[in-house]
Amino acid sequence: MIYETQPTASHYVDGAYLEDTDGTPIPVIYAATGARIATVHAATPAVIDRALTAAARAQTDWARLSGRERGRVLIRAAQILRERNREMSVLETCDTGKPLQETLIADAASAADALEYFGGLAGSLTGEHIPLGGDWAYTMREPLGVCVGIGAWNYPTQIAAWKAAPALACGNAMVFKPSEVTPLCALKLAEILTEAGAPAGLFNVVQGAGEAGQALISDPRVAKVSLTGSVPTGRKVYAAAAADMKHVTMELGGKSPLLIFEDADLENAVGGAILANFYSSGQICSNGTRVFVQKSVKEAFLARLTERLKGVVMGDPLDEATNFGPMVSEAQMRIVEGYIAKGVEEGARLVTGGKRAARDGFFLEPTVFADVTDGMTIAREEIFGPVMAVLDFEDEDEAVARANATEFGLAAGVFTRDISRAHRVIGALKAGTCFINSYNDAPVEMPFGGVGMSGVGRENAKAAIEHYSQLKSVYVRMGDVEAPY
Ligand code: NAD
Repeated sequence: MIYETQPTASHYVDGAYLEDTDGTPIPVIYAATGARIATVHAATPAVIDRALTAAARAQTDWARLSGRERGRVLIRAAQILRERNREMSVLETCDTGKPLQETLIADAASAADALEYFGGLAGSLTGEHIPLGGDWAYTMREPLGVCVGIGAWNYPTQIAAWKAAPALACGNAMVFKPSEVTPLCALKLAEILTEAGAPAGLFNVVQGAGEAGQALISDPRVAKVSLTGSVPTGRKVYAAAAADMKHVTMELGGKSPLLIFEDADLENAVGGAILANFYSSGQICSNGTRVFVQKSVKEAFLARLTERLKGVVMGDPLDEATNFGPMVSEAQMRIVEGYIAKGVEEGARLVTGGKRAARDGFFLEPTVFADVTDGMTIAREEIFGPVMAVLDFEDEDEAVARANATEFGLAAGVFTRDISRAHRVIGALKAGTCFINSYNDAPVEMPFGGVGMSGVGRENAKAAIEHYSQLKSVYVRMGDVEAPY
Protein backbone atom coordinates (compact mmCIF):
# COMPACT_ATOMS: atom_id res chain seq x y z
CA MET A 1 0.00 0.00 0.00
CA ILE A 2 1.49 3.31 -1.05
CA TYR A 3 -0.73 5.43 1.18
CA GLU A 4 0.12 6.37 4.76
CA THR A 5 -2.71 5.00 6.83
CA GLN A 6 -1.14 4.63 10.27
CA PRO A 7 -2.32 7.72 12.19
CA THR A 8 0.10 9.78 14.27
CA ALA A 9 -1.59 8.37 17.37
CA SER A 10 -4.83 6.62 18.28
CA HIS A 11 -6.76 9.51 19.76
CA TYR A 12 -7.16 13.23 19.21
CA VAL A 13 -7.66 15.03 22.50
CA ASP A 14 -7.38 18.66 23.52
CA GLY A 15 -6.17 19.80 20.11
CA ALA A 16 -3.45 17.17 19.60
CA TYR A 17 -2.83 13.50 18.92
CA LEU A 18 -2.63 11.34 22.01
CA GLU A 19 -1.42 7.77 22.49
CA ASP A 20 -1.90 5.34 25.33
CA THR A 21 -0.63 1.89 24.41
CA ASP A 22 -2.20 0.43 27.55
CA GLY A 23 -5.44 0.34 25.58
CA THR A 24 -6.41 -2.86 23.72
CA PRO A 25 -4.87 -2.87 20.22
CA ILE A 26 -7.41 -2.51 17.40
CA PRO A 27 -6.20 -3.67 13.98
CA VAL A 28 -7.40 -1.71 10.95
CA ILE A 29 -7.96 -4.10 8.06
CA TYR A 30 -8.18 -3.05 4.41
CA ALA A 31 -11.33 -4.84 3.29
CA ALA A 32 -10.17 -5.28 -0.30
CA THR A 33 -7.17 -7.41 0.66
CA GLY A 34 -7.54 -8.44 4.29
CA ALA A 35 -4.19 -6.76 5.06
CA ARG A 36 -3.60 -4.83 8.26
CA ILE A 37 -3.00 -1.17 7.35
CA ALA A 38 -2.84 0.41 10.80
CA THR A 39 -3.23 -0.31 14.48
CA VAL A 40 -4.85 1.93 17.05
CA HIS A 41 -5.49 1.39 20.76
CA ALA A 42 -8.81 1.53 22.56
CA ALA A 43 -9.15 4.47 24.91
CA THR A 44 -8.21 3.77 28.50
CA PRO A 45 -10.23 5.43 31.29
CA ALA A 46 -7.42 8.03 31.50
CA VAL A 47 -7.85 8.98 27.82
CA ILE A 48 -11.62 9.21 28.16
CA ASP A 49 -11.23 11.41 31.22
CA ARG A 50 -8.81 13.72 29.44
CA ALA A 51 -11.13 14.02 26.46
CA LEU A 52 -14.16 14.87 28.58
CA THR A 53 -12.21 17.33 30.72
CA ALA A 54 -10.90 19.08 27.62
CA ALA A 55 -14.34 19.16 26.02
CA ALA A 56 -16.00 20.59 29.12
CA ARG A 57 -13.36 23.34 29.35
CA ALA A 58 -13.48 24.19 25.65
CA GLN A 59 -17.27 24.26 25.57
CA THR A 60 -17.59 27.08 28.08
CA ASP A 61 -15.45 29.48 26.04
CA TRP A 62 -16.86 28.33 22.70
CA ALA A 63 -20.42 28.98 23.81
CA ARG A 64 -19.49 32.58 24.66
CA LEU A 65 -18.53 33.34 21.06
CA SER A 66 -21.14 34.76 18.73
CA GLY A 67 -22.77 32.27 16.41
CA ARG A 68 -21.13 33.97 13.48
CA GLU A 69 -17.67 33.48 14.99
CA ARG A 70 -18.38 29.81 15.57
CA GLY A 71 -19.76 29.49 12.06
CA ARG A 72 -16.61 30.96 10.57
CA VAL A 73 -14.54 28.08 11.97
CA LEU A 74 -16.92 25.47 10.57
CA ILE A 75 -16.96 27.10 7.14
CA ARG A 76 -13.18 27.22 7.09
CA ALA A 77 -13.08 23.52 7.99
CA ALA A 78 -15.48 22.84 5.10
CA GLN A 79 -13.12 24.63 2.72
CA ILE A 80 -10.11 22.64 3.92
CA LEU A 81 -12.06 19.39 3.55
CA ARG A 82 -12.94 20.27 -0.03
CA GLU A 83 -9.33 21.17 -0.82
CA ARG A 84 -8.23 17.80 0.59
CA ASN A 85 -11.12 15.84 -0.85
CA ARG A 86 -8.92 13.35 -2.67
CA GLU A 87 -6.66 12.68 0.30
CA MET A 88 -9.70 12.28 2.57
CA SER A 89 -11.43 10.05 0.03
CA VAL A 90 -8.42 7.76 -0.26
CA LEU A 91 -8.35 7.43 3.52
CA GLU A 92 -12.10 6.74 3.58
CA THR A 93 -11.59 4.02 0.97
CA CYS A 94 -8.76 2.50 3.03
CA ASP A 95 -10.87 2.69 6.20
CA THR A 96 -14.05 1.19 4.72
CA GLY A 97 -13.18 -0.52 1.43
CA LYS A 98 -15.75 1.62 -0.43
CA PRO A 99 -14.66 2.43 -4.00
CA LEU A 100 -12.82 5.69 -4.51
CA GLN A 101 -15.35 6.43 -7.26
CA GLU A 102 -17.92 6.72 -4.44
CA THR A 103 -15.84 8.26 -1.69
CA LEU A 104 -14.67 11.09 -3.96
CA ILE A 105 -18.23 12.37 -4.11
CA ALA A 106 -20.08 11.03 -1.07
CA ASP A 107 -17.97 11.30 2.06
CA ALA A 108 -15.64 14.24 2.71
CA ALA A 109 -17.87 16.20 0.33
CA SER A 110 -20.95 15.43 2.41
CA ALA A 111 -19.01 16.30 5.58
CA ALA A 112 -18.04 19.63 4.02
CA ASP A 113 -21.68 20.28 3.10
CA ALA A 114 -22.69 19.76 6.75
CA LEU A 115 -19.95 22.04 8.11
CA GLU A 116 -20.79 24.70 5.56
CA TYR A 117 -24.54 24.49 6.15
CA PHE A 118 -24.39 24.59 9.96
CA GLY A 119 -21.58 27.14 9.83
CA GLY A 120 -23.91 29.36 7.83
CA LEU A 121 -26.79 28.75 10.19
CA ALA A 122 -24.81 29.42 13.38
CA GLY A 123 -25.22 33.19 13.22
CA SER A 124 -28.99 33.01 13.01
CA LEU A 125 -29.73 30.69 15.92
CA THR A 126 -32.01 32.77 18.07
CA GLY A 127 -34.90 32.50 20.46
CA GLU A 128 -38.20 34.33 20.06
CA HIS A 129 -40.01 37.26 21.51
CA ILE A 130 -43.48 36.48 22.86
CA PRO A 131 -45.74 39.50 23.54
CA LEU A 132 -48.18 38.96 26.42
CA GLY A 133 -50.15 42.20 26.56
CA GLY A 134 -48.06 44.47 28.76
CA ASP A 135 -45.70 41.75 29.87
CA TRP A 136 -43.63 39.68 27.54
CA ALA A 137 -41.48 36.61 27.41
CA TYR A 138 -38.49 35.59 25.41
CA THR A 139 -36.66 32.38 24.77
CA MET A 140 -32.96 31.82 24.48
CA ARG A 141 -31.49 28.95 22.52
CA GLU A 142 -28.67 27.50 24.60
CA PRO A 143 -26.18 24.71 23.95
CA LEU A 144 -26.52 21.41 25.79
CA GLY A 145 -22.87 21.16 26.86
CA VAL A 146 -20.59 18.22 26.09
CA CYS A 147 -22.06 15.93 23.45
CA VAL A 148 -20.89 12.41 22.70
CA GLY A 149 -21.04 11.11 19.14
CA ILE A 150 -20.79 7.37 18.44
CA GLY A 151 -20.40 6.26 14.84
CA ALA A 152 -21.09 3.23 12.67
CA TRP A 153 -18.51 1.95 10.19
CA ASN A 154 -20.17 2.64 6.87
CA TYR A 155 -19.64 6.42 6.59
CA PRO A 156 -16.92 7.34 9.11
CA THR A 157 -16.20 10.86 7.85
CA GLN A 158 -19.79 11.77 7.10
CA ILE A 159 -21.18 10.47 10.39
CA ALA A 160 -18.56 12.38 12.41
CA ALA A 161 -19.34 15.60 10.54
CA TRP A 162 -23.13 15.18 10.57
CA LYS A 163 -22.88 15.08 14.37
CA ALA A 164 -20.08 17.59 14.93
CA ALA A 165 -21.36 20.34 12.62
CA PRO A 166 -24.74 21.02 14.29
CA ALA A 167 -23.32 20.32 17.76
CA LEU A 168 -20.51 22.86 17.38
CA ALA A 169 -22.72 25.40 15.59
CA CYS A 170 -25.00 25.42 18.64
CA GLY A 171 -22.10 26.03 21.03
CA ASN A 172 -21.49 22.48 22.26
CA ALA A 173 -18.23 20.54 22.38
CA MET A 174 -17.97 16.91 21.27
CA VAL A 175 -16.17 13.72 22.08
CA PHE A 176 -16.57 11.38 19.13
CA LYS A 177 -16.00 7.64 19.22
CA PRO A 178 -15.72 6.13 15.75
CA SER A 179 -16.60 2.53 15.09
CA GLU A 180 -13.72 0.26 16.05
CA VAL A 181 -13.93 -1.12 12.50
CA THR A 182 -13.16 2.27 10.87
CA PRO A 183 -11.17 4.40 13.30
CA LEU A 184 -9.11 6.50 10.87
CA CYS A 185 -11.22 9.21 9.23
CA ALA A 186 -12.60 11.04 12.28
CA LEU A 187 -9.02 11.76 13.38
CA LYS A 188 -8.48 13.71 10.17
CA LEU A 189 -11.67 15.67 10.73
CA ALA A 190 -10.38 16.61 14.20
CA GLU A 191 -7.06 17.74 12.71
CA ILE A 192 -8.86 19.86 10.12
CA LEU A 193 -11.12 21.49 12.70
CA THR A 194 -8.05 22.49 14.72
CA GLU A 195 -6.43 23.89 11.59
CA ALA A 196 -9.61 25.84 10.87
CA GLY A 197 -9.41 27.55 14.26
CA ALA A 198 -11.44 25.34 16.58
CA PRO A 199 -10.10 25.72 20.12
CA ALA A 200 -8.26 22.79 21.68
CA GLY A 201 -10.71 20.31 23.20
CA LEU A 202 -13.71 21.34 21.14
CA PHE A 203 -13.78 18.18 19.02
CA ASN A 204 -12.03 15.11 20.40
CA VAL A 205 -11.78 11.60 19.01
CA VAL A 206 -11.31 8.56 21.22
CA GLN A 207 -11.11 5.00 19.95
CA GLY A 208 -12.68 1.83 21.25
CA ALA A 209 -15.63 -0.54 21.05
CA GLY A 210 -18.84 -0.65 23.09
CA GLU A 211 -17.01 -0.40 26.39
CA ALA A 212 -15.51 2.98 25.50
CA GLY A 213 -18.95 4.09 24.29
CA GLN A 214 -20.57 3.08 27.58
CA ALA A 215 -17.89 4.88 29.61
CA LEU A 216 -18.59 8.08 27.69
CA ILE A 217 -22.37 7.84 27.95
CA SER A 218 -22.39 7.21 31.69
CA ASP A 219 -20.10 10.13 32.54
CA PRO A 220 -21.95 12.92 34.36
CA ARG A 221 -20.15 15.59 32.30
CA VAL A 222 -22.00 14.44 29.20
CA ALA A 223 -25.29 16.12 28.27
CA LYS A 224 -26.18 14.31 25.06
CA VAL A 225 -25.45 11.18 23.06
CA SER A 226 -25.90 10.86 19.32
CA LEU A 227 -25.53 7.31 18.05
CA THR A 228 -25.44 5.95 14.53
CA GLY A 229 -25.63 2.20 14.80
CA SER A 230 -27.82 -0.86 14.96
CA VAL A 231 -31.11 -1.22 16.85
CA PRO A 232 -29.66 -3.54 19.55
CA THR A 233 -26.89 -0.99 20.28
CA GLY A 234 -29.46 1.81 20.18
CA ARG A 235 -31.47 0.10 22.91
CA LYS A 236 -28.41 -0.10 25.18
CA VAL A 237 -27.25 3.45 24.51
CA TYR A 238 -30.72 4.94 24.95
CA ALA A 239 -31.17 3.05 28.23
CA ALA A 240 -27.79 4.21 29.55
CA ALA A 241 -28.55 7.82 28.59
CA ALA A 242 -32.00 7.64 30.19
CA ALA A 243 -30.49 6.92 33.60
CA ASP A 244 -29.29 10.54 33.76
CA MET A 245 -32.05 12.00 31.54
CA LYS A 246 -29.51 12.79 28.82
CA HIS A 247 -30.62 13.97 25.40
CA VAL A 248 -30.32 11.45 22.58
CA THR A 249 -30.33 11.21 18.83
CA MET A 250 -30.63 7.65 17.56
CA GLU A 251 -29.88 6.93 13.91
CA LEU A 252 -30.48 3.20 13.72
CA GLY A 253 -31.13 0.44 11.26
CA GLY A 254 -33.89 -0.22 8.78
CA LYS A 255 -35.60 -2.63 6.41
CA SER A 256 -37.08 0.01 4.21
CA PRO A 257 -39.65 -0.58 1.47
CA LEU A 258 -39.37 0.60 -2.11
CA LEU A 259 -42.66 0.38 -4.02
CA ILE A 260 -42.56 0.14 -7.80
CA PHE A 261 -45.89 0.51 -9.58
CA GLU A 262 -46.62 -0.74 -13.08
CA ASP A 263 -46.89 2.80 -14.47
CA ALA A 264 -43.36 3.71 -13.29
CA ASP A 265 -40.61 4.54 -15.74
CA LEU A 266 -38.95 1.12 -15.65
CA GLU A 267 -35.43 2.36 -16.31
CA ASN A 268 -35.65 4.89 -13.47
CA ALA A 269 -37.20 2.31 -11.16
CA VAL A 270 -34.38 -0.13 -11.84
CA GLY A 271 -31.84 2.65 -11.29
CA GLY A 272 -33.56 3.58 -8.03
CA ALA A 273 -33.55 -0.04 -6.86
CA ILE A 274 -29.82 -0.29 -7.65
CA LEU A 275 -29.08 2.85 -5.62
CA ALA A 276 -31.34 1.53 -2.86
CA ASN A 277 -29.47 -1.76 -2.55
CA PHE A 278 -25.99 -1.83 -4.00
CA TYR A 279 -24.33 1.56 -3.42
CA SER A 280 -21.59 1.11 -0.79
CA SER A 281 -22.11 -2.62 -1.41
CA GLY A 282 -25.43 -2.39 0.38
CA GLN A 283 -24.00 -1.06 3.64
CA ILE A 284 -26.40 1.87 3.98
CA CYS A 285 -28.96 2.20 6.75
CA SER A 286 -31.67 3.79 4.62
CA ASN A 287 -31.49 1.16 1.88
CA GLY A 288 -34.77 0.08 0.31
CA THR A 289 -34.11 -3.63 0.69
CA ARG A 290 -37.72 -4.76 0.38
CA VAL A 291 -38.49 -3.97 -3.23
CA PHE A 292 -42.23 -4.39 -3.83
CA VAL A 293 -42.85 -4.64 -7.57
CA GLN A 294 -46.34 -4.73 -9.07
CA LYS A 295 -46.90 -8.21 -10.50
CA SER A 296 -47.52 -7.12 -14.07
CA VAL A 297 -44.03 -5.61 -14.40
CA LYS A 298 -42.09 -7.93 -12.11
CA GLU A 299 -40.37 -10.07 -14.75
CA ALA A 300 -39.54 -7.04 -16.91
CA PHE A 301 -38.08 -5.35 -13.84
CA LEU A 302 -35.98 -8.40 -12.94
CA ALA A 303 -34.74 -8.83 -16.51
CA ARG A 304 -33.62 -5.22 -16.80
CA LEU A 305 -32.10 -5.25 -13.30
CA THR A 306 -30.07 -8.37 -14.11
CA GLU A 307 -28.92 -6.76 -17.34
CA ARG A 308 -27.81 -3.57 -15.61
CA LEU A 309 -25.98 -5.44 -12.87
CA LYS A 310 -23.59 -6.61 -15.60
CA GLY A 311 -22.23 -3.07 -15.32
CA VAL A 312 -20.80 -3.85 -11.88
CA VAL A 313 -17.03 -3.41 -11.84
CA MET A 314 -15.56 -5.19 -8.86
CA GLY A 315 -11.92 -4.58 -8.18
CA ASP A 316 -9.35 -2.59 -6.30
CA PRO A 317 -11.41 0.13 -4.60
CA LEU A 318 -8.56 2.60 -5.07
CA ASP A 319 -8.92 2.18 -8.85
CA GLU A 320 -11.45 4.78 -9.94
CA ALA A 321 -12.91 2.40 -12.51
CA THR A 322 -14.14 0.14 -9.69
CA ASN A 323 -17.78 0.78 -8.78
CA PHE A 324 -18.42 -2.07 -6.37
CA GLY A 325 -16.32 -2.74 -3.28
CA PRO A 326 -16.06 -5.38 -0.57
CA MET A 327 -17.92 -5.74 2.71
CA VAL A 328 -16.26 -3.68 5.40
CA SER A 329 -14.99 -6.73 7.30
CA GLU A 330 -14.80 -10.47 7.21
CA ALA A 331 -17.35 -10.61 10.04
CA GLN A 332 -19.85 -8.55 8.03
CA MET A 333 -19.26 -10.73 4.97
CA ARG A 334 -20.04 -13.86 7.01
CA ILE A 335 -23.24 -12.29 8.34
CA VAL A 336 -24.40 -11.46 4.82
CA GLU A 337 -23.47 -14.93 3.53
CA GLY A 338 -25.61 -16.35 6.32
CA TYR A 339 -28.60 -14.32 5.13
CA ILE A 340 -28.07 -15.41 1.52
CA ALA A 341 -28.07 -19.05 2.67
CA LYS A 342 -31.29 -18.40 4.61
CA GLY A 343 -32.90 -16.87 1.54
CA VAL A 344 -32.17 -20.00 -0.50
CA GLU A 345 -33.18 -22.32 2.35
CA GLU A 346 -36.50 -20.55 2.88
CA GLY A 347 -37.40 -20.85 -0.79
CA ALA A 348 -36.71 -17.46 -2.35
CA ARG A 349 -35.65 -17.52 -6.03
CA LEU A 350 -32.00 -16.54 -6.44
CA VAL A 351 -32.02 -14.40 -9.60
CA THR A 352 -28.39 -13.35 -9.62
CA GLY A 353 -25.31 -13.32 -7.38
CA GLY A 354 -25.25 -15.14 -4.08
CA LYS A 355 -21.56 -15.98 -3.88
CA ARG A 356 -18.24 -14.61 -2.73
CA ALA A 357 -16.23 -13.14 -5.56
CA ALA A 358 -13.17 -15.14 -6.58
CA ARG A 359 -10.68 -12.61 -5.29
CA ASP A 360 -8.92 -11.52 -2.10
CA GLY A 361 -10.78 -9.42 0.42
CA PHE A 362 -14.39 -9.53 1.55
CA PHE A 363 -16.21 -9.20 -1.78
CA LEU A 364 -19.72 -10.55 -2.29
CA GLU A 365 -21.61 -10.50 -5.57
CA PRO A 366 -24.61 -8.20 -5.79
CA THR A 367 -27.46 -10.56 -5.03
CA VAL A 368 -31.12 -10.43 -6.04
CA PHE A 369 -33.82 -12.70 -4.67
CA ALA A 370 -37.30 -12.77 -6.25
CA ASP A 371 -40.55 -14.37 -5.08
CA VAL A 372 -39.69 -13.30 -1.56
CA THR A 373 -42.59 -13.47 0.88
CA ASP A 374 -43.17 -11.26 3.91
CA GLY A 375 -42.34 -13.93 6.49
CA MET A 376 -38.92 -14.84 5.09
CA THR A 377 -35.90 -13.85 7.17
CA ILE A 378 -34.42 -11.82 4.30
CA ALA A 379 -37.63 -9.76 4.19
CA ARG A 380 -37.71 -9.09 7.92
CA GLU A 381 -34.17 -8.51 9.15
CA GLU A 382 -31.65 -5.85 8.24
CA ILE A 383 -28.86 -7.56 6.26
CA PHE A 384 -26.53 -4.60 5.63
CA GLY A 385 -25.04 -6.08 2.50
CA PRO A 386 -25.73 -6.27 -1.25
CA VAL A 387 -28.88 -8.37 -1.04
CA MET A 388 -32.12 -7.20 -2.66
CA ALA A 389 -35.39 -8.92 -1.84
CA VAL A 390 -38.04 -8.51 -4.55
CA LEU A 391 -41.62 -9.08 -3.41
CA ASP A 392 -44.61 -8.76 -5.73
CA PHE A 393 -47.98 -7.19 -5.11
CA GLU A 394 -51.36 -6.73 -6.83
CA ASP A 395 -52.64 -3.34 -5.65
CA GLU A 396 -51.74 -0.19 -3.77
CA ASP A 397 -53.54 -0.89 -0.48
CA GLU A 398 -51.94 -4.30 -0.22
CA ALA A 399 -48.47 -2.91 -0.98
CA VAL A 400 -48.77 -0.14 1.60
CA ALA A 401 -50.06 -2.49 4.31
CA ARG A 402 -47.26 -4.98 3.70
CA ALA A 403 -44.62 -2.25 3.47
CA ASN A 404 -45.72 -0.96 6.88
CA ALA A 405 -45.66 -4.37 8.54
CA THR A 406 -42.25 -3.86 10.15
CA GLU A 407 -40.88 -2.49 13.41
CA PHE A 408 -38.45 -0.30 11.45
CA GLY A 409 -39.28 3.04 9.84
CA LEU A 410 -36.14 4.68 8.54
CA ALA A 411 -36.90 5.26 4.86
CA ALA A 412 -39.34 4.47 2.06
CA GLY A 413 -39.62 5.12 -1.66
CA VAL A 414 -42.14 4.97 -4.46
CA PHE A 415 -41.78 4.90 -8.22
CA THR A 416 -44.89 5.85 -10.18
CA ARG A 417 -45.88 8.36 -12.87
CA ASP A 418 -49.18 9.01 -11.07
CA ILE A 419 -48.55 12.16 -9.03
CA SER A 420 -51.55 11.67 -6.75
CA ARG A 421 -50.59 8.10 -6.00
CA ALA A 422 -47.02 9.11 -5.28
CA HIS A 423 -48.04 11.53 -2.53
CA ARG A 424 -50.86 9.31 -1.23
CA VAL A 425 -48.55 6.32 -0.86
CA ILE A 426 -45.74 8.30 0.76
CA GLY A 427 -48.31 9.85 3.12
CA ALA A 428 -49.41 6.37 4.20
CA LEU A 429 -45.94 4.84 4.66
CA LYS A 430 -44.47 4.73 8.15
CA ALA A 431 -41.01 6.15 7.57
CA GLY A 432 -38.98 9.21 8.47
CA THR A 433 -37.11 9.78 5.21
CA CYS A 434 -38.93 9.27 1.92
CA PHE A 435 -38.24 9.43 -1.80
CA ILE A 436 -40.51 9.88 -4.81
CA ASN A 437 -39.07 8.59 -8.09
CA SER A 438 -35.62 8.58 -6.47
CA TYR A 439 -33.78 6.83 -3.68
CA ASN A 440 -31.13 7.52 -1.03
CA ASP A 441 -30.57 11.22 -1.69
CA ALA A 442 -29.31 12.84 1.53
CA PRO A 443 -28.76 16.56 1.02
CA VAL A 444 -27.84 18.37 4.23
CA GLU A 445 -30.81 20.71 3.76
CA MET A 446 -33.28 17.81 4.27
CA PRO A 447 -33.91 16.28 7.71
CA PHE A 448 -32.75 12.67 7.96
CA GLY A 449 -33.92 10.09 10.47
CA GLY A 450 -36.36 7.36 11.29
CA VAL A 451 -39.53 6.47 13.15
CA GLY A 452 -40.31 3.33 15.16
CA MET A 453 -37.26 1.22 15.98
CA SER A 454 -35.21 3.12 13.39
CA GLY A 455 -34.57 6.03 15.66
CA VAL A 456 -35.24 9.17 17.61
CA GLY A 457 -34.48 12.70 16.48
CA ARG A 458 -33.24 14.02 13.16
CA GLU A 459 -29.88 14.81 11.67
CA ASN A 460 -29.23 17.53 9.09
CA ALA A 461 -31.30 20.57 8.17
CA LYS A 462 -32.70 23.07 10.65
CA ALA A 463 -34.31 20.13 12.45
CA ALA A 464 -30.92 19.08 13.86
CA ILE A 465 -30.65 22.37 15.75
CA GLU A 466 -33.54 21.24 17.98
CA HIS A 467 -31.50 18.22 18.97
CA TYR A 468 -28.30 20.09 19.89
CA SER A 469 -29.79 23.00 21.81
CA GLN A 470 -32.37 23.68 24.46
CA LEU A 471 -34.65 26.61 25.16
CA LYS A 472 -34.57 28.82 28.20
CA SER A 473 -37.86 30.71 28.66
CA VAL A 474 -37.84 34.06 30.41
CA TYR A 475 -41.02 35.83 31.62
CA VAL A 476 -40.65 39.60 31.94
CA ARG A 477 -43.16 41.52 34.07
CA MET A 478 -43.36 45.19 33.13
CA GLY A 479 -45.68 46.32 35.95
CA ASP A 480 -46.01 45.68 39.67
CA VAL A 481 -46.27 42.21 41.18
CA GLU A 482 -49.73 41.45 42.61
CA ALA A 483 -49.43 38.88 45.41
CA PRO A 484 -52.46 37.58 47.42
CA TYR A 485 -50.88 38.50 50.74
P1 NAD B 1 -23.17 -1.15 15.88
O1 NAD B 1 -24.47 -0.91 16.53
O2 NAD B 1 -22.54 -2.47 16.03
O3 NAD B 1 -22.10 -0.10 16.40
C1 NAD B 1 -22.31 1.28 16.28
C2 NAD B 1 -21.39 2.00 17.24
O4 NAD B 1 -21.83 1.77 18.57
C3 NAD B 1 -19.93 1.57 17.19
O5 NAD B 1 -19.10 2.70 17.34
C4 NAD B 1 -19.82 0.65 18.40
O6 NAD B 1 -18.51 0.59 18.93
C5 NAD B 1 -20.74 1.34 19.37
N1 NAD B 1 -21.28 0.49 20.42
C6 NAD B 1 -21.54 -0.84 20.37
N2 NAD B 1 -22.07 -1.25 21.54
C7 NAD B 1 -22.14 -0.15 22.34
C8 NAD B 1 -22.60 0.06 23.67
N3 NAD B 1 -23.09 -0.92 24.40
N4 NAD B 1 -22.54 1.32 24.16
C9 NAD B 1 -22.05 2.34 23.42
N5 NAD B 1 -21.61 2.18 22.17
C10 NAD B 1 -21.65 0.96 21.62
O7 NAD B 1 -23.40 -0.77 14.35
P2 NAD B 1 -22.40 -0.97 13.12
O8 NAD B 1 -22.32 -2.44 12.85
O9 NAD B 1 -21.16 -0.21 13.35
O10 NAD B 1 -23.19 -0.24 11.95
C11 NAD B 1 -24.22 -0.83 11.24
C12 NAD B 1 -25.57 -0.42 11.79
O11 NAD B 1 -25.64 0.99 11.85
C13 NAD B 1 -26.71 -0.86 10.94
O12 NAD B 1 -27.76 -1.33 11.74
C14 NAD B 1 -27.13 0.40 10.22
O13 NAD B 1 -28.44 0.42 9.78
C15 NAD B 1 -26.86 1.42 11.24
N6 NAD B 1 -26.68 2.73 10.63
C16 NAD B 1 -27.65 3.69 10.78
C17 NAD B 1 -27.53 4.91 10.16
C18 NAD B 1 -28.59 5.98 10.30
O14 NAD B 1 -28.29 7.14 10.08
N7 NAD B 1 -29.81 5.66 10.64
C19 NAD B 1 -26.41 5.19 9.38
C20 NAD B 1 -25.43 4.21 9.26
C21 NAD B 1 -25.58 2.98 9.88
